[in-house]
Amino acid sequence: MKNLWNKFDADQYQGNLLALRVYSSRLIGQDPNLVLHGGGNTSVKAPFKDIFGKVHDAIYIKGSGWNLDTIEATGFAPVKLASLIKLSRLKSLSDSDMVVAQRAAMLDQRAPNPSVEAILHAIIPFSFVDHTHADAVVTLSNTPNGEEILRSIYGDKVLIVPYVMPGFALAKKVSNLTRTTDWSKLHGIILMKHGIFSFSNDAKESYERMISLVSDAELVLKERPNLGESHGEVSLLEIAKLRLAVSKSANIPMIAVFNGLPFHYEFSSQKDVASIACRGPLTPDHVIRTKRIPMITDMDIEKSVERYRDDYVKYFERHASGELQQLDPAPRWAVWRDIGTVVFGRTQKEIEVVSDIVDHTIQAIQDAERLGGWVTLAERDIFDVEYWELEQAKLNTGRENLMFSGQVILITGGFSGIGRACVKKFSENGANVVTIDKDPNIMNLYKESTVVAVVGDVTLESDVNNVIHEAIQRFGGIDVLVNNVGVFPKSSHIEEIDSEEWRSSMNVNLNSAMYVIKKTTPYLRHGWQPAIVIVGSKNVVAPGRGAAAYSVAKAGLTQLGRIAALELASDSIRVNMVHPNSVFDTGIWSDDVISDRAAHYGISVAEYRSTNLLGVEVTSNDVASVVLALSGPQFSRTTGAQISVDGGTDRTI
Ligand code: ZN
Repeated sequence: MKNLWNKFDADQYQGNLLALRVYSSRLIGQDPNLVLHGGGNTSVKAPFKDIFGKVHDAIYIKGSGWNLDTIEATGFAPVKLASLIKLSRLKSLSDSDMVVAQRAAMLDQRAPNPSVEAILHAIIPFSFVDHTHADAVVTLSNTPNGEEILRSIYGDKVLIVPYVMPGFALAKKVSNLTRTTDWSKLHGIILMKHGIFSFSNDAKESYERMISLVSDAELVLKERPNLGESHGEVSLLEIAKLRLAVSKSANIPMIAVFNGLPFHYEFSSQKDVASIACRGPLTPDHVIRTKRIPMITDMDIEKSVERYRDDYVKYFERHASGELQQLDPAPRWAVWRDIGTVVFGRTQKEIEVVSDIVDHTIQAIQDAERLGGWVTLAERDIFDVEYWELEQAKLNTGRENLMFSGQVILITGGFSGIGRACVKKFSENGANVVTIDKDPNIMNLYKESTVVAVVGDVTLESDVNNVIHEAIQRFGGIDVLVNNVGVFPKSSHIEEIDSEEWRSSMNVNLNSAMYVIKKTTPYLRHGWQPAIVIVGSKNVVAPGRGAAAYSVAKAGLTQLGRIAALELASDSIRVNMVHPNSVFDTGIWSDDVISDRAAHYGISVAEYRSTNLLGVEVTSNDVASVVLALSGPQFSRTTGAQISVDGGTDRTI
């Protein structure tokens, strides 16, 4: 444990208790060995002055929905201290009554809902109270002699509390246990199989007590064996299969990230991994992110997913009562025997959260095993937290559900024009996008973590293989292929065509598409509602003089798409084509070229831009909208179709 307290930084906040509270909460939030993604909470008891100038004894408690590493003063809810203490004296209090009562005691209605641990924070008679789920402490408490070990480390300076469901029951328990306690002797409280509290009237001391208590636990765990060099390996196609099977079980598309690094590989190849991995989570609030246990995957992927689903349904039936609705029965992580681990999630954010929790859980399991065994809470206790409405409420804040959430789209030529518009459009609609382009500037174009750019040439088989590899590694599969790459060679009549120019047009516009489709098809077969969209051209139906190299390639491309539609229909892969025309905001058309062409016809640039029946300008964005629609559920019954996006022309209608 590193003590991150910085005197210079902290001195700026002297005299402002809430500002100091924000400062030290962030120190705690920064350390993933103390809290992970929304875990833990902190508070400070300080006066609150209301609008009439009346001063109240208040406690500022972390609001739910805030993370400690990024919390601000507005993330703390000021609540009347006396009201919370009064609540702690009730015999019982339901969750929903507790939420209402806590809100009613709030001194600023703009503040977020107080943490479910507010009452517990209130009864601890110190200004600063810090609560974390520190790995080292929780790991020790998850061993057969955990309590004994913890007592031998801490003696009397820590109160040890057996596991109770968080919320009112826990506050009540601590209140009962501390009736005759001399608080001045205590540095902290350990909640078995859950976490640890530290406290003091001084912000620095409370923080340093946390660091020191957790460091003492780490010392006991310090002997960790060195890892070898080995990595788990699995074929890309197997990952795509697993992702689809899990998505089907969840009934929503999810991304899957495989991890075969030594730490994960070695865990997965332990003989007793199925037993040690499936005893339960590190700390109960992880259950809403990771489910109670991972899926154990062996070579039969479908069966593994089925077995997990059946077990989950039975687990639900064993413990559910009343009106409870079963959550989806799909795992959020898997141990792939002798290969590594896989994490599943609807979004990158979910993947990130679950991956971090899995890393810490695997370490904790192995540490505990060295200390006599990994023992977790009973299934029933975990179920109660998983289906606790106050926990589920955490997940429902800010959850996105867009048309392409959890789906993976491969787009060729994503640096400019229609390709770039497609990347943007799919991203806005929740998709994870992988795109390949020859222009190395593509590496700096997309900042969002949901877009993976690869520099490469689609006419080279190795570069195509590379972008597919990237898609599976980052997201676990491919659902939609947008074949967009294209070049427009310079105009020349057939007798003047340069052979090299002809070959290059065929290579980029046609041959590359054959290889891209050929290579992505096996993955699309394991994609979620898979589709291919090919960007053709108006020239296919209405060719122009001097454009043979372009039109012939695009006509061939369209024919390729039609045959793909025939061949892939039985795999439920839809293949459709769009035929744009005069899309001037693409790389092909510079302002100079446009004004040249306009002058050539003796019309204004604006007129030239909209010489079609509807008299409208056609933009890359217009084309991307149609590509998106063809890839989505609106066109789920359409394959082999060709749709013009050209404002209408006499020659094609
Ligand atoms: Zn907790």
